[in-house]
Amino acid sequence: MLLNSSPKCFSVSSVVLTVYFFLAVTIGAQTAPASYALIPDNPRPGEPVTIGVRNGAGAKSAVLMVEGKRLTRAAFFSVSAENDSDGGKQSFMAAVLTVPATVKPGSRAVIAVEAAGGIIREITVAIAGREFISEVIELNPTLTGIRTEPDPRKTAEADHLWSILNRTGADSYHFGAFSPPVSSTRRTSFFGDRRVYQYSNGNNDISIHAGIDYGVPKGTAVNACGQGKVVLARNRIVTGNSVIIEHLPGVYSLYYHLDTIEVAEGALVNAGALLGLSGATGLATGPHLHWEIRVSGENTDPDAFIARPILDKEAILDKIYP
Ligand SMILES: [Zn+2]
Repeated sequence: MLLNSSPKCFSVSSVVLTVYFFLAVTIGAQTAPASYALIPDNPRPGEPVTIGVRNGAGAKSAVLMVEGKRLTRAAFFSVSAENDSDGGKQSFMAAVLTVPATVKPGSRAVIAVEAAGGIIREITVAIAGREFISEVIELNPTLTGIRTEPDPRKTAEADHLWSILNRTGADSYHFGAFSPPVSSTRRTSFFGDRRVYQYSNGNNDISIHAGIDYGVPKGTAVNACGQGKVVLARNRIVTGNSVIIEHLPGVYSLYYHLDTIEVAEGALVNAGALLGLSGATGLATGPHLHWEIRVSGENTDPDAFIARPILDKEAILDKIYP
């Protein structure tokens, strides 16, 4: 199920950028300390990038620049020291930023921005190429209605969802890699699938699949992919019985179409905790689990979080304190 993304785009004048590029090259070549880390070097569309920076650098947010526009943004949050015997040297600021699934490959820039909006550092990042699957989904009249009919409750539910996903809390619960939410590896849809919804009235709509669909039977245990706080556990019209967990400031995992919900809003859960049983509630053509990761509101490839830690403290520290 796709949720409409809320792109946060605003233009930067090319004059300002030209001046900035000149300064960046001049300063970067001569005096700039290695105080920023960007991991990985070559993210693909849909994948997250972690930016680490020393404390005191003044960076408030990281922004991905695409064709002169500030495309996605993530707030920096503090990552505390394992121990403080080194006088706080091991503490740093980090931001997790998503390269949207629609970004074309090529050389892009991630900028670190201060509170007033000024650019304090630019880091070049090479976006790798990626192919996505295309599929057509035919919806019967009931499912067509769920997707197309205006309904004040749907609008209120969408507003509530976005108020959660756009929130950057202060708490960090999970830095490592995620575990898949079900043991089955049978997938019926993949992250980034280009979908055409064929409505029963003959119209259609194009969207991008925001997560992974696991084709599991009704009643399959659905487990938390990582430690975190349950910030939503309720029924929604479009996504059915739904659970959302906050793992890091701005980083959320979402579990849709559940048959039953077994956790309460506000609960702290460990990785592997039972969240509910899978089902086919909401806009679902059959029993499955839709698992999705949102980073500062942007849908992000869950496989990237299974493959490596969300935030690799050691790798960041190696880069910012070489
Ligand atoms: Zn889905």
